This record gives sequence, structure tokens and C-alpha cells, in this order.
Amino acid sequence: MSKELFSKEKIKNLINEVDKSIEIVNINKFSNDVTIDLLIENFTHKSKAEARNNITEVLSKNFDSNLNFKINFKPKFVDREDSNNQLKNIKNIIAISSAKGGVGKSTVTANIAVTLSKMGFKVGILDADIYGPSMHIMFDLVGRKPLAVDVDGKSKMKPLESYGVKILSIGFFTSMDQAVIWRGPMATKALNQLIFDADWKELDFLLIDLPPGTGDIHLSIVQKLSVNGSIVVSTPQIVAMADARKGISMYRQENINIPVLGLIENMSYFNPPDDKENKYYIFGKDGVKNLSEDFEIPFIGEVPIIQDLRESGDIGRPGALQEDTELSRVFEDITRNMIINLTERNTNLPPTEIVKIKTMAGCS
Ligand code: ADP
Repeated sequence: MSKELFSKEKIKNLINEVDKSIEIVNINKFSNDVTIDLLIENFTHKSKAEARNNITEVLSKNFDSNLNFKINFKPKFVDREDSNNQLKNIKNIIAISSAKGGVGKSTVTANIAVTLSKMGFKVGILDADIYGPSMHIMFDLVGRKPLAVDVDGKSKMKPLESYGVKILSIGFFTSMDQAVIWRGPMATKALNQLIFDADWKELDFLLIDLPPGTGDIHLSIVQKLSVNGSIVVSTPQIVAMADARKGISMYRQENINIPVLGLIENMSYFNPPDDKENKYYIFGKDGVKNLSEDFEIPFIGEVPIIQDLRESGDIGRPGALQEDTELSRVFEDITRNMIINLTERNTNLPPTEIVKIKTMAGCS
């Protein structure tokens, strides 16, 4: 291939071919050094590295090898106001996360949701755990698909409803194996559709079940939605809590700044039904309580290991639907504490601003 010496126009076209959404701010040549300033929407280390590699590759293929390209990225802010307006019928958006998988985040989300519904609130769950969706199983909706409805001339998804809770999950559209291999941008696109192409109608609470960790999906949510508060679920185990610290730090970053309404300790202890006197602290004792003191975040409750909680999740009928059992009381306490902290937050703090990501410290 014949190589060109230097052409701003050609550089622009090549970058456009790599990714149309990247905005070119400036191209400067000084001697053999070419500095290119770009704006990128997905300002994560991973996306930047990917874009940098792809752009460098095409530039070095097309231009003379004595040119040195230096690529700088700055975040591209997209006007989200319009999209957030679409969700104006949702009074409170709460993100539920855990830094580690398998600690019971989805189980806790499902049971808080049915408890809120039992209390008379209008509740929705957005299963954003794109790599391991489980709400369709926990709410006995496997194999069901949301219908399309016409809203003001636009086709929208109607969330499925189970036990009074409206649910949208990527699990309705894809097999587990498919979702796991999705790359970041595909997962984010699917999530956008679940959020904005849905007809949620009026909700008092939309609970978002986030994937474990601190990654692209989390950033994508905070960039698009005004999340009132977050809840972090962890087991008291040391390895789980090390990750929970990262999760809390992410919400607390100056430019994300989503109040953590509370920490929930799951699998706190096991109390055998035939030995009610003894509690066995299988994953350690009080770990999350101590974490909440360290971070000065309210501790909003502990959930023991309850066989019934696991079984009810597996058969698609969240255990907290029961009346007057240990399990239902545990979730009533947690839900009440969550509402108290949320009310306090809504009274004392202004609405959470949709995040304009400036730095990525703490996010992988
Ligand atoms: P995550 O969403 O964090 O990946 P899940 O909610 O899917 O975790 O829970 C993982 C497994 O642990 C599920 O089988 C669930 O039923 C079970 N489980 C969660 N919490 C408890 C608990 N407190 N007692 C018994 N089983 C639990």
C-alpha cells in the first residue's frame, strides 16, 4: 500500500472509520510528531486502550513510518437530559450492587422488591446484571417475553409483572451463555433499551440489580440515570469485603457521588432449625457491620443463611412473600431501614446529578 506523508483530512476519515462516535477536536503536526486530541463517550481505561490501539494501527498502515502519533482522549459528554425525562414517572431509583458475585445481591434485590410491593409501593426491577441475569428465574418468568406496546406512536417494551413487581431483564432475550460473551458496548446498548425503550409507567421504586464489580455497566448507569442512592450487599468474608470497599469507593468518588444508603450483610450466620440457641458464623462475624463503621455508612440489616431463601429463589417465588416468618421479618426490617435512609437522603440532599465522568480512578 502506498503511504502518505501527512493529511489531516485523511486522519479524520480513518478515525471515523474506526469509530464514528469519536469526536476529533484537534490535529497538530510539529516536526514528525502528530498530536491528535479526541473526545470519547465511553471514558474507561479499556475503551480508551482499545480505541488507541485501533487508531494507531490504521494510522501506521496509512502514513509514513517517520510520523509519531500521540493520541489524547478527553470525555465526551452527551446530553442526557432528554433521556432522563422519559423516566420522570419513577420517583426513586436505587442501585443494588455487590463487589463480588454470588454473595446474594439478586436474592436480596428480589426480596426487597416483593417486600416493598407488600407495603403497597409500586415497584420495578431492572436486571442489569447483564452477565448473569437471574430475575426471570427468581420471579418464575423463564421463557416469557415482554410484549411491545404503543406509547405516543413509539413502540415500547412492557415490563413483565410477577407478584406485583414489574421486571425487565436481559434474561428475557438471551441465553445465559450468549450474554456472558457480550462485549462492553453490546451490553451497554442492550441495557439502554431496557431502561429507555420500556414503558415502566408510574413507579415509587426502580431497583437496579447491577453486575458485580465496578465496570462499564456501572458507569453507563450513572451517566444516564439520576440514581437516588445505592445499596451494597456483601457477605462478612474478608475476600468479599475487600471488594465491597472498592464498590463503596466508586460511589463515593467526587464525580460520581451517589449516596450509599446502606450496607446489607448477607449470609451473616446459620441458625439450625433444630438448634435455635446456636448461631454459626460460617463466613465470619460482623464483618460488614465493621465495614459500615469504617466508612460511616448505615448498616441496614443482616440476612442469615436460610435454606428456604435459597429454595424459594430457585422455584421462582421470593421467600419474603411469606407472611410472618423469620425470613419475611428480616426483609421487612431491611426494607424499612432502606426507606428511612432514602427519605433522609431525599430531604437533605439535592437530586443526584447525572454523572459527567471526568476521571476513572477506582473503576476498572
Ligand atoms: P448474586 O446476585 O450476588 O450473584 P445470588 O442472589 O444469585 O447472588 O445468590 C447466590 C446463591 O446463594 C443463590 O442460589 C441464592 O439462592 C443463595 N443465597 C443467597 N442468599 C442466601 C441466604 N441468605 N441463605 C441461603 N441461600 C442464599
